[in-house]
Amino acid sequence: MTKMNTETCMEQTEQYVLHTYNRFPVAFEKGEGVHLYDVEGKEYLDFAAGIAVFALGYHNEAYNQALKDQIDQVIHTSNLYYHVPLAEAAKKVVEATGMDKVFFTNSGTEAIEGAIKTARKYAWLKDGSTDHEIIAMEHSFHGRSMGALSVTGTAHYQEPFKPLIGGIKFAQFNDLDSVKAQITEKTCAIILETVQGEGGIYPADPEFLQGIRTLCDEKDILLILDEIQCGMGRTGSMFAYQDYGVMPDIVTCAKALGCGVPVGAFALNKKTAENSLVPGDHGTTYGGNPFACAAVSKVFDLFKEQKIVEHVKQVTPYFEQKLDELVEKYDCFESRRGKGLMQGLVVTGKTVGEITAKALENGLLVISAGSNVLRFVPPLVITEADIDEMAEKLEKSL
Ligand SMILES: *Cc1c(COP(=O)(O)O)cnc(C)c1O
Repeated sequence: MTKMNTETCMEQTEQYVLHTYNRFPVAFEKGEGVHLYDVEGKEYLDFAAGIAVFALGYHNEAYNQALKDQIDQVIHTSNLYYHVPLAEAAKKVVEATGMDKVFFTNSGTEAIEGAIKTARKYAWLKDGSTDHEIIAMEHSFHGRSMGALSVTGTAHYQEPFKPLIGGIKFAQFNDLDSVKAQITEKTCAIILETVQGEGGIYPADPEFLQGIRTLCDEKDILLILDEIQCGMGRTGSMFAYQDYGVMPDIVTCAKALGCGVPVGAFALNKKTAENSLVPGDHGTTYGGNPFACAAVSKVFDLFKEQKIVEHVKQVTPYFEQKLDELVEKYDCFESRRGKGLMQGLVVTGKTVGEITAKALENGLLVISAGSNVLRFVPPLVITEADIDEMAEKLEKSL
């Protein structure tokens, strides 16, 4: 078989793959640490990490070996049977989130679906009615399936696919009064990202999140925190809410959870787990299979061994300082916001697309968030030298 070059790979992909993505004109072949290499051998510094997925860096020997070992044992058995990787991964997720039970899915979107179903079942068990409401946030992103799309606060994502699921109301992120204004006797859950990702990198204000927790406690409303992007160490704590002193009733997780193996999860506290889904209510063929669980399990082990969360905390000030310097130096950067290794620069006078395209030419992978934010979600193992390399390549691209 002759090796495909970039052009052939692009042509063949566009010929056969449904065009739902405008892809960057590059075809990647392999990764090493924080770098990716395209089929022509060109090196790229990766500050996108497959959209906040590859936390541990590419070609991590221990992670790869764990996956190879599991492949040689068994890849899939279904949820009709017990297996050790599930028992191990579940314990690790429950302990890390501070929740009581977990359900494994194949994606973040499916974790959101599970969370929505859990909230509705919880409310249904209380009063038997079927007109409960969920409050979601403007500019949120929770996924593309009908349920997840229904709580995603971006009109143009929703419009062509209506009618969506009913009973969803929207409030303004970081505006507690706007949330209060949407609460009725029918409200069964409030769903939000602890740090909004796709919408433009907006961390929740502590008073906002704490205020929501109080509201939920007063009215027995379930708080669903979507930590699919901001969880797994990215913001400098294992889950972002742990830095706010706020516990959710349900937390959703995916992206870095499997570090590249497609897996998600929703975890529930005791009250929610004991008063919601039971056999027959929910299921998945693949979800939590031995291969995916071996990945999750190894990811948690490596986070501990490599002190990933501590490293994020330690490298964040330098990262913020470098980005702040760029804001000061270049008119096209209006401001910086973010938390830990989840950062955004607000772009003005240029499009984010111009910058990401130029950066690609200069061997730097960065992506957009919202309409005008340049997003940085690098592997969590980046060093100060990688940050310097990023800044240098970005400056060259302006
Ligand atoms: C990516 C993302 C999702 C959707 O996850 P998928 O794995 O793409 O289905 C949901 N919520 C947030 C906050 C995300 O960043």
